[in-house]
Amino acid sequence: MFEHMEKYAGDPIFRLNEAFHRDAHPQKVNLTVGLYYDNEGHIPVLSSVKTAEQRRAVEPAPRPYLPMEGLASYRDAVQKLVFGPDYPALRDKRIATIQSVGGTGALKVGADFLHLAYPDSEIWISDPAWDNHHSIFQGAGVRTHTYSYYDPETRSLRFDQMMSELQALPRKSFVLLHACCHNPTGVDPSPEQWLQLIPVLAQRELIAFVDMAYQGFGTGLDEDAFAVRAMADAGLTFVVANSFSKNLSFYGERCGGLSVMCASAEEADGVLGQLKAAVRRNYSSPPAHGGQITSDVLNDADLHAAWLREVAEMRRRIAFVRKEAHGQLKTKLPGYDSSYFVKQHGMFTYTGLSSQQLQILREKHGVYIIESGRISVPGLNTRNIGYFTDAMADVLGA
Ligand code: PLP
Repeated sequence: MFEHMEKYAGDPIFRLNEAFHRDAHPQKVNLTVGLYYDNEGHIPVLSSVKTAEQRRAVEPAPRPYLPMEGLASYRDAVQKLVFGPDYPALRDKRIATIQSVGGTGALKVGADFLHLAYPDSEIWISDPAWDNHHSIFQGAGVRTHTYSYYDPETRSLRFDQMMSELQALPRKSFVLLHACCHNPTGVDPSPEQWLQLIPVLAQRELIAFVDMAYQGFGTGLDEDAFAVRAMADAGLTFVVANSFSKNLSFYGERCGGLSVMCASAEEADGVLGQLKAAVRRNYSSPPAHGGQITSDVLNDADLHAAWLREVAEMRRRIAFVRKEAHGQLKTKLPGYDSSYFVKQHGMFTYTGLSSQQLQILREKHGVYIIESGRISVPGLNTRNIGYFTDAMADVLGA
C-alpha cells in the first residue's frame, strides 16, 4: 500500500551525529548538533530546574490535559521574558501567547495561523537558513523563498542587499527573522541595522515571524530580545516563537512559546482563539510536566534568579571558547583570519570550510562538522580545544 512512497533520507545533522557515535577515534570531537554542553561535555541539568523538580516530586500531582493554549502562569512568564516585564502591550492585553511544543511547535502553529490569515502570502527566509524553516512552512502550505543574508567573502551580513530585497516584496509577505544568534551563521544585524530594517517592514506591510530559539546565548536575555522589543515599540503586528530548549537546557521536554503582537485586546482575543484551533488540530494540548517546571523556574523569585545566573554562565562559556579558539588559531595559523569566532554570536559559527576540508577533519582527525561548515561551538571545551585547533591548522595550513 505504501511502496510508492519516497524513502525519508533522514536529517543530515542527525545522520552525522550518529556517525560520530559509531566512530572509534580516541580524540573525536562532535561539533554537529545544536546542543549546549558544559565544559565536561555534558548536557547540563540546571540547578533551578532540579530544585523545581524536587519540589514537585514531594507530592506528585494528577496529570490532566493542559488547556490548548497551555498554563496561564507559563504564558504570562513567556510574555515577560520576550517583551520585558513592564511592556505596556502586556497590560493592554494586545499579545496572544500560547505555550508551545518547543520552538518547532511554535513555528508550526504560527505557520498554520499565518496561512489561514493570509492564504496567498508567501514567506521569505534567510539564505542560508535553518533547513527546518523551509520544511515547516512548506508543510503548512506556505511557499518559501530566500532573501540574501550572509556574505561568505566578508563573513558578515549582506545588509544592503537584504534591505533592498525586503523593500521589493509584495505587501503582506511573511519574513522569517532570527532575533539573535542566527542559525547557522552566528551573524546578526546590529541594533542600528534592526532600527533601519523595522521601518521597511512597516512601510511594506510585511509580517515578521521572529524566531528566538537562543535568547540569552548572545549578549543577554534582554539584549537578545532587542529586535522583538523594537518591533513592538514601532507598533508592528508580528509573530514571535521562543524556545526553552537551549536556555533552560530542556530539549526533550519540548517547551516554547508563540506570541502574536496585535493592534488591540479584541484582536488578540480572536487570534488566541485561532491559535487554540491550530493547536487542537495539531496536538491538542502541550506537555504538562515541562510546562509546570518552566513556569516554576520563571515565576519563583529564587529559582528565577538562579536561572539568570545559569544562563549567564552558559553564555560566558560560549564566549570563552570562542575567544580561546580565535587566540589559538592566531598562533597556530598566523595567516588565517579566525576573527569570525569572536565576531559571530551564540551557539554557531560558520567556518567556510570546504567539503574536502570537512572530510579530512572527519576522517583523519575525528572532528565532526556538518556539511555547511557550521560549528556548534559548545562542543568545544578546555580538554579538546587544543586538539581541535591543531586539526584546523593541519587542514587549513596544508
Ligand atoms: N529555530 C531555530 C533557529 C533553531 O535552531 C531551533 C533548534 O535547533 C529551533 C527553532 C527549534 O527549537 P526546539 O528545539 O525548541 O524545537
